[in-house]
Amino acid sequence: MASPEIELDDSEWRERLTAAQYEVLRRSATEPAWSGELLHVDDNGVFHCAGCGARLFSTESKFESGSGWPSFDRAVDDGTVLETTDSSHGMVRTEITCARCGGHLGHVFPDGPTDTGLRYCVNSLALTFEPEEGAES
Ligand SMILES: [Zn+2]
Repeated sequence: MASPEIELDDSEWRERLTAAQYEVLRRSATEPAWSGELLHVDDNGVFHCAGCGARLFSTESKFESGSGWPSFDRAVDDGTVLETTDSSHGMVRTEITCARCGGHLGHVFPDGPTDTGLRYCVNSLALTFEPEEGAES
């Protein structure tokens, strides 16, 4: 349970991901605020892990946080996103990773505005978006 389902070595991840995706997913980098392509999406749909394709978040749980990163109030299913304490950069935060491949997604904060009280702050580079079928306009 603790070890991810998909384990690739470093060179395989470098091949599979763009350089920017690699820095976020495998090196826990944070993309610059407001830089993410998926900060705003117009269609309803599902966000997948850019590393392994696992379904992680839905547009139903997405909200505008004003932080400059895509924000969600819950994961699409229990157990798809793992939470671990991250005490890097002199802060104690809760890191979120993809349960399937171990890729770094972002952090979750206990200051969400909705009934879950959570704000999953996710790098756009860690996600790919798939519009709901039939949702094209
Ligand atoms: Zn993944």
